[in-house]
Amino acid sequence: MFDIAIIGGGTAGLTAAIYGQRAGKRTVVFEGLNFGGQIVNSPNVENYPGLESISGSQYSMNLLNQALKLGTETISEKVKEIREEEGIKIIVTEAKEYPCKSVIIATGVAHRHLGIEKEDKLVGSGVSYCATCDGAFFRGRDVAVIGGGNTALQDAAFLANYCNKVYVVHRREEFRGESRLVNALKEKENVEFVLNAVVKDIIGEFMVEGVLLHDKKEEKDFQIPVAGVFVAIGQIPQNEIFDGVVKLDEYGFILASEDCMTSHSGIFAAGDCRTKEVRQLTTAAADGSVAALEACKYLDAK
Ligand code: NAP
Repeated sequence: MFDIAIIGGGTAGLTAAIYGQRAGKRTVVFEGLNFGGQIVNSPNVENYPGLESISGSQYSMNLLNQALKLGTETISEKVKEIREEEGIKIIVTEAKEYPCKSVIIATGVAHRHLGIEKEDKLVGSGVSYCATCDGAFFRGRDVAVIGGGNTALQDAAFLANYCNKVYVVHRREEFRGESRLVNALKEKENVEFVLNAVVKDIIGEFMVEGVLLHDKKEEKDFQIPVAGVFVAIGQIPQNEIFDGVVKLDEYGFILASEDCMTSHSGIFAAGDCRTKEVRQLTTAAADGSVAALEACKYLDAK
């Protein structure tokens, strides 16, 4: 019987594990993919207090090792369901069922897709959601990054090191991401901003050959020949399996406030998967600690 079962091995989940273990609770982290979460793909994290500059993968590895050294257990199985039986929470995975006394959901978010016809077909053949994973394949080529947030801006900066030309295609005039990142891109000779443009289609049958864009101001279509399309248009929650167990908002985020408490007693939500204003590494870590301490309070009160 685990005291605290954490679903998701990203920053929020692993921070919760550190706090849970340090409070003397038997803590387990379920992760269906890779430990570390979305920050694994960030080439350089420069806004985490006390860490001036660190790669996302190194940061994640440090975090996982810290949790493991404290005695956190890990189970590499995808969680399918949580149910409650006589006050005990049961975590159901593809393989087994695990009883536990409290649960922290820290499932983060998944890449948002453009939702255009060729996108899924050409994933791995020029369409990518991870510049740091796939950027090297496009050395010397022209690529387009779609999006105007921090991820798109960081991806463009990273790709500019490898690629001949990087187009940053954004649907508005103003970027959502930090102006510091925008200004750094403006300095790069091989980066071009394509603003007020929406992607209508990806060109190419078997490999990406370009993108068909629509200029919203001029109201006309135009094409850019590129070998790669890096989609960085934000993330969406993956909380469908928890719907009915905890309350979700209209966008699918778990309803929980700063205390990370959900509508279900003994189930907490931490990090990007819950309703919140700011989704950052720091807020994920903060949530992980809060959720674990609230879970400890819940367990001790029992
Ligand atoms: P984001 O901030 O939500 O930005 C998504 C961007 O994609 C926006 O510019 C949005 O346009 C655009 N977009 C959304 N749907 C679109 C569609 N269907 N077609 C075209 N464009 C679309 O997402 P993010 O950049 O992935 O960042 C997520 C969070 O992680 C943010 O809080 C960010 O600051 C944080 N982050 C932190 C770091 C770090 O180093 N610590 C790195 C990366 C990200 P509009 O602006 O018009 O809505």
